[in-house]
Amino acid sequence: MSLLLKNTKAVTLAPASVEQCDIRVRDGEIVDLGKQLKSRRDDELVDLQDKIVMPGFACSHTHLYSVLSRGMPPPRSAPRNFLEILRRIWWRLDEALDEESIYYSALVGAIESAKFGTTTMIDHHSSPNAIRGSLDLVKRALRQIGLRAILCYETTDRGGRRRRDLGLEENERFLTENANNRYFRGTIGAHASLTLSDDSLACLGELAGLYDCGVHMHVAEDRADVLDSSKKHGIDVIERLSKFGVLRRKSIFAHGVHLTRRQLKRVEDAGAWMIHNPRSNMHNAVGYAPLSWCGEHSALGTDGFAADMLEESKFGYFRNAESSYPAEFSRLPVMVQNGQRLASEFFGPPFGTLRKGSPADLVVLDYVPPTPLTSRNLHSHFLFGMNSAMVQHVIVNGNWIVWNKQLVGIDEEAIMQKSRRVAKDIWRRMHGR
Ligand SMILES: [Zn+2]
Repeated sequence: MSLLLKNTKAVTLAPASVEQCDIRVRDGEIVDLGKQLKSRRDDELVDLQDKIVMPGFACSHTHLYSVLSRGMPPPRSAPRNFLEILRRIWWRLDEALDEESIYYSALVGAIESAKFGTTTMIDHHSSPNAIRGSLDLVKRALRQIGLRAILCYETTDRGGRRRRDLGLEENERFLTENANNRYFRGTIGAHASLTLSDDSLACLGELAGLYDCGVHMHVAEDRADVLDSSKKHGIDVIERLSKFGVLRRKSIFAHGVHLTRRQLKRVEDAGAWMIHNPRSNMHNAVGYAPLSWCGEHSALGTDGFAADMLEESKFGYFRNAESSYPAEFSRLPVMVQNGQRLASEFFGPPFGTLRKGSPADLVVLDYVPPTPLTSRNLHSHFLFGMNSAMVQHVIVNGNWIVWNKQLVGIDEEAIMQKSRRVAKDIWRRMHGR
């Protein structure tokens, strides 16, 4: 049986394209596009009446467990810098995670992502008191909602040798077990240069080389990461990652706020990815990533905020415009599409495209343009007109996961009720109140 989407406005962000056509989907991929495709007897036919159909978005860096911090009581004394933000908020939250809270945080994060049209999550997980099997819990939650994901565990020396080794093992186990999975892939995860010894970086580089998968980690998010490398190790942070084989093809480096033009070029030339997270950077007041120095391997993440890529794009655009007026309309939409290219490097098929052989991960957007919408002005409509509340239907691998703004086959209210109880428990464990 195939699915025939009639009368769509098929839109891709890069190259920018707007085209009236019908789309036929079978076995999880697009098998035909064209004007007035004829319906067949076994077709499920849906007339979209000129609504926009786009490839599902990818969130290129996030932490699904962060959703549990929403509304959380603040720490007793307010953090004064980035390292205190880590110690007083995020490391207390991840230490408090148990199996139930890992699963529910991923589940509600996946529900929100699906409703925003984000169909591929590139997640960075940490739960130092429940490391072994943690990525399977995240996977189970995402699978339940129907999303795809590239998962990893955050290896670090902050909890000692045993936990570091458990982190390395969890990454290796998950990526080998999911090497051919249609929905999931693994990669090697690590925190940041400033919490990793030379020995740990060598282990990470070795695993990444062995499995040709790169390392997903934070790089130069705050000046502290850059200073730590030069003071403790006498080399700049990118040189340090290169020395241990961590700077490589398919590595995913989040932030890059404090990298120089030369360092960013080195990252790009190595085939690694730089992920911009504007809301997070502004929220932590760590500085602003120099987007004009980022190349074709730069994509967009949300770093723990809800995976709403339309919203993240707007924040990124306006912050960029403020820093380097006039900002280009295209930069942020292209970065969204680059995230889909990043997903393609791990999965194989061409995500972010609408052509024969593209994965049938699709978002239907109910956007009625008040001015002409063309390939030339698409990015302006994307930034200033479209928003995630307009996401009406979502398809992943040819299956409807959201229909008319409702998750298919999921009791969302029951899950959210349970998640609120889980959040209260974890806050009590963190704050003793
Ligand atoms: Zn992060």
